Amino acid sequence: MTANDKKPLRIFATSRIGDPAENRLRERGYDLEVFQGPEAPPKALIVEKVKSGVDALITTLRDKIDAEVFEAGKGTLKVVAQIAVGFDNINRADATKYKIPFTNTADVLTEATAEFAFFIMGAVARKLWSSEKLVRDQTWPSWHPFLPFLGDEVTGKTIAIIGTGRIGLAMIKKCAGFDMNILCYDPAYQNHKYIAAIQQVMDLRQAAGIQQEKTWIKYVEFEEALRGADYVSIHVPLLREGETDKPTFHLINEKTLKLMKPTAYLINTSRGPVVDEKALAKALKEGWIAGAALDVFEKEPLPADSPLLDPEIADRCRVFHHFASGAKITRLDVDPNKGMAGRTAQAVIDVLEGNYGGDPAKMPYVVNKEAFEKSDE
Ligand code: NAD
Repeated sequence: MTANDKKPLRIFATSRIGDPAENRLRERGYDLEVFQGPEAPPKALIVEKVKSGVDALITTLRDKIDAEVFEAGKGTLKVVAQIAVGFDNINRADATKYKIPFTNTADVLTEATAEFAFFIMGAVARKLWSSEKLVRDQTWPSWHPFLPFLGDEVTGKTIAIIGTGRIGLAMIKKCAGFDMNILCYDPAYQNHKYIAAIQQVMDLRQAAGIQQEKTWIKYVEFEEALRGADYVSIHVPLLREGETDKPTFHLINEKTLKLMKPTAYLINTSRGPVVDEKALAKALKEGWIAGAALDVFEKEPLPADSPLLDPEIADRCRVFHHFASGAKITRLDVDPNKGMAGRTAQAVIDVLEGNYGGDPAKMPYVVNKEAFEKSDE
């Protein structure tokens, strides 16, 4: 349906997604209503809008989308388009039961998220915050070989990549450039071809004198990855009990933190509940590990009374505001091959305009394709 048709199709977005993508939808004739607040709308408002007959709903990871929402959209709601790759806020089983396709923005945020993971790893290891604080607080005593503190190198160290999907593989690529050894763990998807190619690059760099030491990459079991790493970087989706046979909820907990070296660092850019924050705060306080850099939290925004904000561990716990994909092109570009906003708009267009023969199972950004795959009738 386009502007030429009688009544424009309606879209409700629970957040702004930027002028370029919003304009693209409006220019195609859609009646786009956008919740303007920087905060998420209450669920009741989402349900009310869906009940009022919107054809498409644009969501963020802050919105809980479940049977209540799909029931409200019975017969009218045609697509839920999420501006994120993670979709743990959307109940997949409910979407599939109601046969409503939902979409995500995989790929376009892969490199931005991986580079952010790499940067915050460097930030915590090389104590960038503590160093800047000295300068700003005017407490920088004088240049000294090791006072008031030293950081840990990243170059030449060993990293464990937990989850070798899109972002995990992009992180591997960046780590290889820093002469790191790489331990990979993923129970469901192992890209041996990619890992072999990285090993070839490592060997070539060493043979050409670009890096001094020979480095390596290999798949190992979870425990071996944790025990052997100087850095552990998490790149898994949030999967709770009942959603999979390998849940990731509290994958990092007291037991698994204790397997890590006391000199190791934890990096989490995946989802907050993958890490048991109480256990992590204890681990940092009691020196089970050296530090952590976190972009995501069990509760966001991070509450003031979080043990992770304890001033006693401030020098070794870096915290960021769920910002890993937060770069301009990645978030807002209207090109669906570059920006999350562009991909979200295109996902809505694909469904509402019946692209790909109107078959959601063939649409590239639809996640729950299983709801539409034809059984052999
Ligand atoms: P992906 O699906 O390509 O990769 C995830 C990988 O994790 C898969 O290979 C899967 O097999 C693996 N996995 C599943 N369960 C596992 C387990 N128990 N142990 C180890 N590995 C397991 O997803 P992606 O595009 O790489 O994104 C990963 C996640 O990163 C997203 O689901 C999202 O939650 C998060 N993310 C966060 C930000 C941010 O701004 N902080 C940005 C983008 C993505």
